[in-house]
Amino acid sequence: VRSASAVTQILTKLQKDCATPLPILRHVADAMANDMRAGLAFDGGSDLKMILSYVDSLRTGVDFVRFGGDERDEKGLFYALDLRGTNFRVLRVQLGGQERRVIATESEQVPIPQELMCATSEELFDFIASGLAKFVEKKGGEFCLLPGRKRELGFTFSFPVKQTSIDSGILINWTKGFAVSGTPGRDVVACLNEAMRRQGLDMQVSALVNDAVGTLAGARYWDDDVMVAVILGTGTNACYVERTDAIPKMAASNSQSGTTIVNTEWGAFSTGLPLTEFDEEMDAESINPGEQIFEKTISGMYLGEIVRRVLLRMTETGSLFGSSIPEKLQTPFSLRTPHICSMHQERSSDLEAVGSVLYNEAGVDSDTEAREIVLEVCDTIVKRGGRLAGAGIVGILEKMEEDTKGRIFGKRTVVAMDGGLYENYPEYRKYLQDAVMELLGPELSEKVVMEHSKDGSGIGAALLAAANSKYR
Ligand code: ADP
Repeated sequence: VRSASAVTQILTKLQKDCATPLPILRHVADAMANDMRAGLAFDGGSDLKMILSYVDSLRTGVDFVRFGGDERDEKGLFYALDLRGTNFRVLRVQLGGQERRVIATESEQVPIPQELMCATSEELFDFIASGLAKFVEKKGGEFCLLPGRKRELGFTFSFPVKQTSIDSGILINWTKGFAVSGTPGRDVVACLNEAMRRQGLDMQVSALVNDAVGTLAGARYWDDDVMVAVILGTGTNACYVERTDAIPKMAASNSQSGTTIVNTEWGAFSTGLPLTEFDEEMDAESINPGEQIFEKTISGMYLGEIVRRVLLRMTETGSLFGSSIPEKLQTPFSLRTPHICSMHQERSSDLEAVGSVLYNEAGVDSDTEAREIVLEVCDTIVKRGGRLAGAGIVGILEKMEEDTKGRIFGKRTVVAMDGGLYENYPEYRKYLQDAVMELLGPELSEKVVMEHSKDGSGIGAALLAAANSKYR
């Protein structure tokens, strides 16, 4: 029999530990701004790596993003490869220059088999290159390569990389459940170029782009007010347009505009977060303990798993679903964020849909009372995640505004948002927006527009490949 008091006790403590009232949000936003500054001062100065993207610090210029110039004259066929988490995406774009802009795009998504996430570097990159080769072979009427040219690719790689130029970068470490051997410490562009050669694919990488940076570049192509991009998918990251003179660690800059995109790698942020014993246990058992704490609190890979851990505890100590503890409920990552999202959508009084998700994914039978508790747990974890993500965004905006008054809040400012979690989880999105509103107040939040830039990173990467074409 259920021990209602034990279950209630766990729930009450969870809600208390996860609470994000305004003072906590404010503290997190301030800490984000401080940690950004520390990371810009010198490498290793903070949890935030604040990686220079080399976008707009180049002689060739990427002026299509209009940091300085106003040229959008890229033409021709360009490819993009987006290696994120659960899948990779290949894309081709026919660019028509300033007048016609994007003439045609075509894309394809390929799931990454679980076993490749722990394979060798060669195995992973060969798999990707062979998917790319198949995509290239497909005929498409509107896509044509200029004669005598090798195909060019923008490579979106959303893991922490120490970028050494626009077309090279060393992998620092894998995140999001990847543990591929042999890649950390290596140039991921060389890994991909070599794999393409092994697959007989006549293509070269012209730009290595982080996914947040790609999203910013893609969104900025259409809207000059885009200053920040945030990804909330399996993992999370954010980047923004920084003034080069606000980057002490930057040696020299060729940036004509005086600005460059900085990739915060904010998933590694950890200051002042309201964490619970469940977070700590999940972290300790993860493949990267002590790392990516913000990511583990707010991103799609982990929200479902935190909920599962709470439900397991409620079953162990309070028999939430009766006395037996099914194996599924004990299996890490059996309950995933899309499942808690679909439970969250429930509107019927007996919570039947919640019951069937619990039955199918966690192997438990539930009555209405148990389902109500499950919904409270989901809401608590998702609310904390969304609100903390919102506080992080405000931290970035405030850092930018403090450096130059009026730069952000004196005009319309757009935050380009993308990622499966943001896109598909309405409650999460709402909590995020609420937190931004609460922190900024009604007047300033009118100026800040959060815009969904769907799949902007692919086009952004292709645009950056064009801007950095070897044939320019
Ligand atoms: P990536 O895996 O490359 O980050 P996406 O940006 O598409 O790719 O994000 C996928 C992630 O989005 C999933 O891992 C999951 O956490 C989250 N997600 C996908 N669909 C849903 C959904 N219906 N509800 C909530 N979260 C979802």
